[in-house]
Order: sequence, then structure tokens, then C-alpha cells
Amino acid sequence: MKKIAILGSTGSIGTQALDIIREHPDQYEAYVLTAHNSVEKLIAQAREFKPEVVVIANEQHLPTVREALADLPLKVFGGADALCDVVQMSDIDIVLTAMVGFSGLRPTIAAIEAKKTIALANKETLVVAGELITTLAQQHHTPILPVDSEHSAIFQSLGGERLDRITRIILTASGGPFRHFSADEMLHVTAVQALKHPNWEMGAKITIDSATMMNKGFEMIEAKWLFGVSPSQIEVHVHPESIVHSAVEFCDGSVKAQLGVPDMRLPIQYAFSFPDRLPLSGERLNLFKAGCLHFERPDFQRFDCLQIAYDAAERGGNMPCIVNAANEVVNLAFRQGRISFPDIARLIRRAMDEAQFVTTPTLETYLQSDADVRHLVESYIHQ
Ligand code: MG
Repeated sequence: MKKIAILGSTGSIGTQALDIIREHPDQYEAYVLTAHNSVEKLIAQAREFKPEVVVIANEQHLPTVREALADLPLKVFGGADALCDVVQMSDIDIVLTAMVGFSGLRPTIAAIEAKKTIALANKETLVVAGELITTLAQQHHTPILPVDSEHSAIFQSLGGERLDRITRIILTASGGPFRHFSADEMLHVTAVQALKHPNWEMGAKITIDSATMMNKGFEMIEAKWLFGVSPSQIEVHVHPESIVHSAVEFCDGSVKAQLGVPDMRLPIQYAFSFPDRLPLSGERLNLFKAGCLHFERPDFQRFDCLQIAYDAAERGGNMPCIVNAANEVVNLAFRQGRISFPDIARLIRRAMDEAQFVTTPTLETYLQSDADVRHLVESYIHQ
């Protein structure tokens, strides 16, 4: 029986992780559930799964959650610091990091230090502090298992292989809802349009990141750290069917890919069951029905966020942290209708030029950069 801490249990990944636990109650136990603001959902989950511990990160809601769960034998904590404490509880086997954005960094570090297997869904952690996280994981012999579907595909393709035999990673992208839009049409797209992803059901933040292709840029940086390859070895292929979830080319020219219907429960379950596999309900891949699979080069002009990610990875230091913080602010501002779609890349570029660059950042640098850049980019929006 593996005991799992789900950080961000009320989000898209969190609720699908609970589906997996529901499907395999003899294998997995939800030991910790946490949410930021989704009080009602968290309370309902706690009643169903009866974890040991529940954390509501926004401390304001602590009295509500405590009162609602007073009749259950579980502990309820509040505040972001509580996340860092609970992931270190001795009984936990796996920590699934499924919260949104930069907030994932500190709890992930705490879990690595406590030698918990990390099922990593919070890609921003590696984008911001990939070097720090991977070094720490090596020092503590903590495995980091990818939950992102592309990285799970790469990881599955690497079974029995050596990392130093990789020559290229083919990172597939659906292309998002604006794949065929002209630059002019993209001037006027709305958040409602951007939130309609063609293939995947996801949370609002990542769906906007998919529409700008910043998500793919971040995944490139995530792959760089997870698999020890350089950005120039990672080639984004737009693949509108989302069936080939990514592929790896080796030094002899052989290419291995992982295929399947788009269903996030598979990579979540694989991170839980690795190195084993378990049965999973749901639709099976039907290649006759798919008929053709298409692959296109991404358009780095129309999707400047993808180029931004390559530029940030190239520059190194705290530049990916600057880009991530700027992106979190403009992503939300676009959803709130405060800026246009092209403003997203434009304002991130401006932050890259104006924010304080640090060549060899520490954790403190990241925390400071993140706070400073949020402030800076807010000031651009208010001008
Ligand atoms: Mg992905």
C-alpha cells in the first residue's frame, strides 16, 4: 500500500489522481490532501478519502475547513508553510506536486529533502529552479518521476536505455486553439476562446499557457533538466491529434515513442506504479479510427512564448525564473480581460530586459526574483 500526499488535490491533476486511487483502493491511499482556495471541494474529498491530514494553503479558510471536518479523525492545518511540513511526514511514500505555478517550489524542496518519491506535475518548479532541484534530488537519492504526459512518454521510451545515448527528443504539442490563426486574428482573441483546448481538459492557467505555447516552452526546459539534454536537442513537433505523446531518438537513429489516447490518468498512474504497470479503465487507442497522424514545425513568430523559453534556457541563471513569474502575472491578467493576447509575450520580453539578472542564483535569489518580477509586471499592466 503506497501512501500518497496530493498537493493541489482539487485541481485537474489532483482530482484525476484521486480517480486512480478510487480505481486501486488496494494499492494506494490518499494520505494528505491540500488545496489553496477550493474549500468545498477539499471538504468533500476529505469526507470521501479520509486522509490523515488536510491542508488549506490560504489560512483565511482554516476555521471553515476545521469546523466542517470536526467529526472526522484527521488533522487540519492552514498556511503555505504547513505544506512544507506535512510532505516530510514519515509514512508518506509519494508526493504528487500538482499545485499551480511557483508555489510548488518550496514544498517540492521539502519533499526531496525528506527523500520522498516525487511525482512531478508542477513543471514550474523545474522551469524556475531546475539545477537546484535536480542537484538536490541527486544528493538525497530522491527519484523525480514525471507526470506531464510528454515527459512520461519520454520516460517510458527510456526504459532500458542510457541517457547518454539520447541524440534528440521530439516533444509533441497539440498547437492549441490558435494553431491556424493569423497574427492579425490573434490580436483579438479572448480568454473564453483560449480556454477551449482542442484535446486536453486542464486547469485555466495551463490552458492559456497551451494557447500561447509557453506551456511547450516550459516543457522543453522541464525535459532539459529531467533527461540531461540541451535545449538544442529538444525539437518541438506540432502534432494536432495528441496521440504520439513524445519520442526519443538514440545515437543509432532508432526512435522510440509512447502513444495513447489523451488521458492524463495514464501518466499519473504510471508515476504511482513505476516500475510496474497497473490496469486502467477507459478508451483504448484505435489507430484505424485515427487514420492519419500529422506533424508540423511550430511557428516561432506567431508563438513568441516558445522562442522566449528557448532564449531563457540559453541565457540560464534566473532568467527562466523571471519568465515564469512574468508569465504567471500576464496569464492571469489575460484571463481577467486586462491585457490582449499579444501583450502576453510582449510584457514577458519587457520583463526579461528590465528585471535583475543573476548568473548563479540560489533559492533566495529565486524567491526574491519571483516577488520582484511580479511587482514589475503588475506595474506594466497598470501603466
Ligand atoms: Mg504536457
